[in-house]
Amino acid sequence: MDKGGQPIIIVDPRKEQTKGKEVLSMNIAAAKAVASIVKSTLGPRGMDKMLINPIGDITITNDGATILHDMSIEHPAAKMVVEVAQSLESSAGDGTTSAVVFTGTLLEKAENLIDNGVHPTVIIKGYRLAAEKAVEIFESLAVSAGEDEKILFEAARTSITGKASEKYNSLISKLCVDAVLAVRERGKVDLKNVIIAKDIGGKTEDTEFVEGIIIDKVSLEKEFPLQIQHPNIALIDAPMETAKTANKAKLQISTVGEIEDFVKQEDAALFEMADYIIRAGANAVFCSKGMDDKVASYLQNRGIYATRRVKNEDMQHLADATGGRPVRNIKELTEKELGHAGLLEQDRDGDQGKTYLRDCKGAKSVSIVIRGGTEHVVDNVERAIDDALRVVKCVVEDGKVVAGGGASEIEVALELRSYASSIGGREQTAIRAFADALEEIPRTIARNAGLDTIDSIVNLRAKHTENKNAGLNVYTGAAEDMLEKGVVDPLRVKVNSVKAGSEAAVMVLRVDDMLRAQHSGMPDIKPEHMASTYDGMSAPALNMRR
Ligand code: ADP
Ligand code: MG
Repeated sequence: MDKGGQPIIIVDPRKEQTKGKEVLSMNIAAAKAVASIVKSTLGPRGMDKMLINPIGDITITNDGATILHDMSIEHPAAKMVVEVAQSLESSAGDGTTSAVVFTGTLLEKAENLIDNGVHPTVIIKGYRLAAEKAVEIFESLAVSAGEDEKILFEAARTSITGKASEKYNSLISKLCVDAVLAVRERGKVDLKNVIIAKDIGGKTEDTEFVEGIIIDKVSLEKEFPLQIQHPNIALIDAPMETAKTANKAKLQISTVGEIEDFVKQEDAALFEMADYIIRAGANAVFCSKGMDDKVASYLQNRGIYATRRVKNEDMQHLADATGGRPVRNIKELTEKELGHAGLLEQDRDGDQGKTYLRDCKGAKSVSIVIRGGTEHVVDNVERAIDDALRVVKCVVEDGKVVAGGGASEIEVALELRSYASSIGGREQTAIRAFADALEEIPRTIARNAGLDTIDSIVNLRAKHTENKNAGLNVYTGAAEDMLEKGVVDPLRVKVNSVKAGSEAAVMVLRVDDMLRAQHSGMPDIKPEHMASTYDGMSAPALNMRR
């Protein structure tokens, strides 16, 4: 082929190429680096990270997904590990840190095996066998939970232990169970129907669950009745005032009479708008735009609740919950567009306050009002609620949990080791490495709790000959039955963690050649993306923000 004695160039010289073992170690180092970032946060006694964004906002969290999401990680192999966290976050809402630690450890163990002469293909095969078997074992360990409110509560509490303030864990867990059960429909849970409202300035212990929806508005007239039974609700997505431009237009007015005429005309136009509402049979109006005070008092004198400048997302919630349809052209409003609820109730303090719509007729909607002294407190509670809601959803939908505190990982590791012996060959070393990687979860929980890791693991393994649910008591270091202690994780979290983690590890192990196009050849890369990252290499930035 090499006819003229000239070498054939098969790789564009403008591309940077890295090959073989070097690529693998580089990628493994990057994956391990990601795992090491979040490792210290794992478990109920994990530490927090302080994240500071470019404009100086501070978030203190120990939530793996939040940390990695805010770090804009750029190395391609590291990104694969971040994706494992994201996949857990979106599929189960929990278990992100564990999955990342597991993935990083799988790769670390693979590197040791490679150094000892095991070929990556053998490791890949062993990891795949182990992952399949591990899923089977996790499933065999699971206990039924779907309808059991006590277990749902325990799953919620386990997912937020060490996240929000301990003091409120029970309150938050209870609210989340109530909310999920309230919106459950034919075994499925759509969390869009759980509306989170925030009230900064209140007390966290007053955080509450409300059947129905809450709007941050009250009727424009102070004297309006606080309750309307069975309101018919009009949702208006248009201004209910005279157009501003009309006021600016030059008017040829010379006499007092003409001014009066003009005002009358304007009023007539305003009252006409209000009449459309009255004719449709509404007795409550939520307007997303401005509403002239005259319109409001005209309506309210006729017993119609009216409020203006309702946020777009609240309009959407109102539409979903009451079954009403927002109209853009007020003339089109008829009875058909109206929404319905059992009760409209105002909780007002002067011009401020909230309107509750209870027992709504549309999609089942419930709300959680988060209260707290400062924005940080409220945000932290919100993250905890977000996790707990999704964990309870998982358990309600799948109906299965496993013992937490490392109990299930220890058991799966033990059973995987005997499975490895039955497989034999070189793959068994990879299966054992996989088992070790799973044990890294209880090991890390122990380390983060300040316990001796070797003692803890030895204890747990010993206890497992008699109790498959023995996990770590993070305060005493003892091996205890986690089902009895009420420390449980959704089965889905464990299964997805094993699947996503092993797939990512395999993907990294399969790469033995990396070609990187030079930036000059990629005009869509902006200068800020050229920043040097891991290993001094640069890569196009992937914006990790959701
Ligand atoms: P992840 O992002 O993986 O969910 P967490 O920091 O939430 O990370 O830690 C989850 C781990 O902590 C799970 O293995 C869970 O079983 C364990 N865990 C939670 N609460 C307790 C507890 N009270 N005692 C022991 N382990 C616990
Ligand atoms: Mg968690």
